[in-house]
This record gives sequence, structure tokens and C-alpha cells, in this order.
Amino acid sequence: MDFTVNEQTRAMIQLMQRFMEREVFPLERAFLSRGFPAIESEAEALRRKVRQMGLWAPAQPKEYGGMGLPLTDFALVSEVLGQSPLGHYLFGCQAPDAGNIEILHEHGTPDQKKRWLGPLVRGEIRSCFSMTEVELPGSNPVMMDTTAVKEGDDYVINGQKWYTTAADGAAFAIVMAVTDPEAAPYRRASMIIVPTDTPGFDLVRNIAVMGHSGSGPFSHAEILYHSCRVPRSNLLGSEGDGFRIAQERLGPGRIHHAMRWLGVCRRAFDLMCRRAVTRPIAPGQVLADKEIVQAWIAESAAEIESARALTLQTAWKVESLGWKEAREEISMVKFVVANVMQRVVDRALQLFGGLGMTDDTVIAFFYRHERAARIYDGADEVHKLSLAHRILKPYREAHRAGEGGLDVFRG
Ligand SMILES: Cc1cc2nc3c(=O)[nH]c(=O)nc-3n(C[C@H](O)[C@H](O)[C@H](O)COP(=O)(O)OP(=O)(O)OC[C@H]3O[C@@H](n4cnc5c(N)ncnc54)[C@H](O)[C@@H]3O)c2cc1C
Repeated sequence: MDFTVNEQTRAMIQLMQRFMEREVFPLERAFLSRGFPAIESEAEALRRKVRQMGLWAPAQPKEYGGMGLPLTDFALVSEVLGQSPLGHYLFGCQAPDAGNIEILHEHGTPDQKKRWLGPLVRGEIRSCFSMTEVELPGSNPVMMDTTAVKEGDDYVINGQKWYTTAADGAAFAIVMAVTDPEAAPYRRASMIIVPTDTPGFDLVRNIAVMGHSGSGPFSHAEILYHSCRVPRSNLLGSEGDGFRIAQERLGPGRIHHAMRWLGVCRRAFDLMCRRAVTRPIAPGQVLADKEIVQAWIAESAAEIESARALTLQTAWKVESLGWKEAREEISMVKFVVANVMQRVVDRALQLFGGLGMTDDTVIAFFYRHERAARIYDGADEVHKLSLAHRILKPYREAHRAGEGGLDVFRG
């Protein structure tokens, strides 16, 4: 493994960092106090600038107007952009669009690509991904109530979803629905494109998450699909492919999240260090003079470095050996980085005291919003169980074959 960064990538990252500091961080104040609508037009202007600078959609294929960066380079870029809640949106690589772009790229028909993929990569429209249901466990999505029943040339969709991130203002949803209840569990569901202006697509509310319902790309909706009729040509892949495609989408999604979380860590850590050396705490003393604060800073630095190394190693393995070979690392990265981020943000908030609880810095936003990292795209427990299952498998087999003694010295 060699993570040397070449000159071109280094220059690009420096350019992005400067842009974040000069153009993006100053926009956060209005975003945090007045929400996304207050900054939407400025955000559009910044997106235009990003395009002019040739930095648009870093992870997306060049053929659709993205930069086509390799995953290890995108990891470094994503860390820079993740320093602000606005970074990924302004550079055209925000979830859930990034994942939906991958689905359309891999499984879309030429017509679907023309209508949805091109405009999505160019940032002309937004999308959402509608799988989780209110009444059934998202951790075990084969338990799904939403149905898509064939009627003539159409599917008629009925069901109730929630946590459909960024549905507010999206042009279409990719919906997971049961198309064949009699099939084997992982062949029951399919993915279907549903334009949000279809009659029967009913956005009930933006759910208040940690007290904030948000709006636009920064919201999570509850949606009722009520006899929602779309043409059968809106099916993605083949009928019954829903879980297979979801698995393909979630693998990249998990590592993309981890890369962004490193940015959250970096910003919280940087703010924590700045505050520590400037906040007086006793005559002639600042917070940084206190050993407990020094311990927080040392522990955070070490944890962030370890999380970054694991993320880069996973990205490298994905690039060189493919997603399937990197399944264990992807599970590790998902829960390790989410927990490092939570600890670092918590320490930063604690160090900022009362100021940390306000929206006068970005820390409280990170604290509220990034707690969900341990839940979405597979809760910590689900990843730990599947990782332990894989690790233990050869040990169980060896034990069954009478091998794998305990090397206990007796006598
Ligand atoms: C901010 C946010 C954004 C989201 N965005 C989207 C989106 O865009 N589209 C979408 O479809 N969904 C989205 N989700 C939903 C998310 O994927 C689900 O919340 C997640 O899959 C967990 O499902 P659940 O909430 O139903 O919890 P449950 O499945 O009910 O699980 C509850 C808890 O039980 C524990 N648990 C689960 N399984 C096991 C197990 N096998 N063993 C031991 N413990 C277990 C875990 O601690 C878990 O947190 C989002 C969620 C959040 C919070």
C-alpha cells in the first residue's frame, strides 16, 4: 500500500481547502440560523464557481461531467469537503444523489439515463432513496410492506416510508417495493423510479430530527405512496433485483460516509485546538494548559489518524480487489469512523462549554446530525455481528474438523 499523494492531487486538495475556508465556512452562519432556503441562491452561485473551477462531482464518471477520481483520491477530497455540512452539496457529491447516480449508471436503461442520470450529475435536479418503513425494521428490510402491483403497463405502488432523505424538492425517488411476495426473501423487492410529481406521491412531513425538521437536501421525509402509478419502464434492473442493487449501493455509500465523517472530525478537532489555546480559564492560563484537555487532544488526534488509515486502506482494497473482497473492512470503517467522529465532536462540544451548545459554531449541528451515523446504512450492531460472523467462520470450521486447539500448556 502506498498512499503518497501526487502533485496534481495535492494542488487540487489545497485549492478545495482554500475554497472551503473563503467561500463555504462563511455561509454556515446563515445556514445554521435560518436554514437552507436562506442560502439557496448563494449556494447556487458557489456551485457555478465550483463547476468553472473544474471541481464538480469529483467521484462521478467523466463521461457524465464528473471528475472520475479514484476512490483513494476521493477519500482525501471528501475529508476536505466534509468539514462543512455544505461541502458535499456545493461540490455535487452529496448523499443520496451520489448513490442514486451509481444505481442509474449501473442499472439504468438508456432512456432512464437520459432523463434522470445526466441532469442529476449536472446538479440540475435532486433525488432521494425511499426504502425504510415506519412500522418495520430497517435493519432487516426483507420485512417490507410497500407493494408495487402490475396493472397493464404500470406499477401501482402503495406503502408508507420514512427517513427518505432529501425528498423535499427532489425530482424523483428510487423506491424499494415488493413486486413478488411469493419469491425467496431477497428476490421479493424491486427498485422503481417514481417522479415526485406523480399523483399518489404524498410527502406527509419533514420529520423533526433532534428537534429540527430542516428543508431541501437537509431534511428527511415521511412519504405515503397511495395508489401511485408509474410506467413499468421505470423499473431499475430486473424484477426482484432490489436487494442486490441495494447491496451494491450501500457498499460504496458506507465508505463515502466514512470519508465525509473524517472531515467532520478534522473541523471539530481544529476548532477544539483553536479554542483550547485562546480560552482563558484562570489568570495566565488557557484551557490548553490543562492536562485533561491535552489528553482529549492527544486521544482525538490518535483516533482520527487511525480512522483515516483504516478508511484509506479500505479504499485501496476496494480499488485493487473489488467491493466483495473488502466487505469486512467496509463494515469496520462504518462503525469505527462513526464512533471516532462521535467522540471527537463530543469532546469539542464539551471544550466549548455553553458556546458549544449554540448554533454560533458548527459543532452543535455536527453533534445533532451526525449521531445518526451509528444508525443509518446499517446500525453499529448489524455491522459488528456480520463482521464477527465472517471472522469466526474459519474458526468454527476448524473446530468442527478437530483442528484449532487452544495451545494451553498443562502440567
Ligand atoms: C438521519 C437518517 C437518514 C436516513 N436516510 C435514509 C434514506 O435516505 N433512505 C432510507 O430508506 N432510509 C434512511 N434512513 C433509515 C435508516 O436506514 C434506518 O433507520 C436504519 O436502517 C435502522 O432501521 P430502523 O430505524 O428501522 O431501526 P431497527 O431496525 O428497528 O433497529 C433499531 C436498533 O436495533 C439494533 N439492532 C438492529 N438489528 C440488530 C441485530 N441484528 N442485533 C442486535 N441489535 C440490532 C440497532 O442498535 C438499531 O439501531 C435514515 C435514517 C437516519 C437516522
